[in-house]
Amino acid sequence: MKNAQIARIFKNIARILELKGDNPFRIRAYEKAAFNIESLPEDLDAILDKGGLKKIPGIGKDLALKIEEIIKTGTLKFYEKLKREMPPGLILMLDIPGLGPRTIKNIYDKLKIDTIDKLEAAAKKGKLQSIEGIKRKTEENIIKGIKLIKKGSKRTLLYLALNIAGGFIDSLKGLKGVRRIEYAGSLRRRKETVGDIDILIESNNPSMVMNAFVKHPSVREVIAKGSTKASVLAGERNIQIDLRVVKNENFGAALMYFTGSKQFNIKIRQLALKRGYKINEYGVFDEKKNKRLCGKTENEIFSFMKMGYIPPELREDRGEIEASLRGSLPELIGLKDIKGDLHVHSLYSDGRASILEIVKEAIKRNYQYIAITDHSQSLRVAGGLQKKEVYKKIEEIKKLNKKMRGIRILCGTEADILGEGKVDYPDSILKEFDIVIASIHSGFKQSKEKLTKRIVAACKNKYVHIIGHPTGRLIGVRPEYDIDMDEVIKAARDYNTALEVNCHYQRLDLGDINILHAKNSGVKLSLGTDAHNLEQLDMMGFGLSVARRGWLEKKDALNCMDLKELIRWLRG
Ligand SMILES: [Zn+2]
Ligand SMILES: [Zn+2]
Repeated sequence: MKNAQIARIFKNIARILELKGDNPFRIRAYEKAAFNIESLPEDLDAILDKGGLKKIPGIGKDLALKIEEIIKTGTLKFYEKLKREMPPGLILMLDIPGLGPRTIKNIYDKLKIDTIDKLEAAAKKGKLQSIEGIKRKTEENIIKGIKLIKKGSKRTLLYLALNIAGGFIDSLKGLKGVRRIEYAGSLRRRKETVGDIDILIESNNPSMVMNAFVKHPSVREVIAKGSTKASVLAGERNIQIDLRVVKNENFGAALMYFTGSKQFNIKIRQLALKRGYKINEYGVFDEKKNKRLCGKTENEIFSFMKMGYIPPELREDRGEIEASLRGSLPELIGLKDIKGDLHVHSLYSDGRASILEIVKEAIKRNYQYIAITDHSQSLRVAGGLQKKEVYKKIEEIKKLNKKMRGIRILCGTEADILGEGKVDYPDSILKEFDIVIASIHSGFKQSKEKLTKRIVAACKNKYVHIIGHPTGRLIGVRPEYDIDMDEVIKAARDYNTALEVNCHYQRLDLGDINILHAKNSGVKLSLGTDAHNLEQLDMMGFGLSVARRGWLEKKDALNCMDLKELIRWLRG
């Protein structure tokens, strides 16, 4: 049994447990195991033989036994039993954007709908409206979502694609004769979703690379295998991975070509043509003399073209080629520039870690400050803090700040922007916080005018520092809510309110284009992981990807200020 199939079983178990409304920790454990198994460079069979299952991150005694059972018997009794409890059609329904497990279960219990086809027919006839929480609009969204699934136009979220690509690279880079290995395509450009994955390898033994590639434990199906090129479907999501073995002298040209974007490549080629050269995936050529000029590295090509090196995240033909020719490319923000995380939830609301635990993690990351921003009073489902609890939290943070060295804890809140644009605490409480994020968590379906007004009102509020996840999107699940972004950016600029780059891999909100627009308008941006547990503090990297795609520089982000400067800004 292949790793990918075992990952799939664990993923399905997680989904069935979700439908059953099981313990979220247990569901998360199965999901995490599936995720980690997908990027293993070695077969689970081989790991089992060496007695190393429990060394895999996220695999404890119970899951190790389950893996052993699957390998030895080809099946898992626990899984077979669960499957009998839940029709397979319901599991497939979980793929429909915006349709949660509880609703699916309700629809099944009340209307006996157990396949996607039946669901579609019922939605078209308006029959789902007998279920609590489903309106005409919900039915329309379900129909749209089903169409999307049937078209198979599913794209993979960046973090999942990075995980699986990383697994392949880890196992292939150790092969004898492999000199260079890189992923290209939209993954290298760090787009928020990825269609398929391209990997390039320089090796003097292509056939060995090809064999190892198609035998990788995550492969589920081999689509094609030639002497220097192969394609497979891999992982729990069956994502396509194309591998090419490239010669040393062509590597840079191939990397640039397969990184794209298409628009970027077209423009570079035109530029070269104007100067009498030809660029393709093999190099730069002088056509008249029929001579190859360069192509070993990307740097070589850029300098031949008299351009500065353009980071992959910028290669979208949004002015980066012109900027590079002028020598005015932005100096993109990087992890080393980040001095703190400005959006974290603790046990006080719906986070899973104590403030002390969070602070210790922040210290490990060399942060100078960390903002603990729990939900506000109205958001009861997420443990929003009542006034009394706010004072208790302020006291705890005061004490911790006295005790801890080298880091400053900012007492914050992520306060709801209420229906009319009011913020969910009175001024007397708001002024007690070091930092206030204001976010919309309800009324997404209001008119554009009303939603925009709410956010603009929050920008005007003198206690609000940051607008959290400004468009409300959940990638692949929920579109941006309908707001006038120009108005919001204008208000943010006029009232000196920052807009957030929410780093959660499913949000990445603002997205790249809005970041660029905000930056160009002189608005400050604030990166926040929105972490609800300790491991999510690592999502800063995803936020940085989208920030870099939005041309963000150190000077544009609150998080790059040192503590003193930030405090001055917050109080100003
Ligand atoms: Zn939020
Ligand atoms: Zn939050």
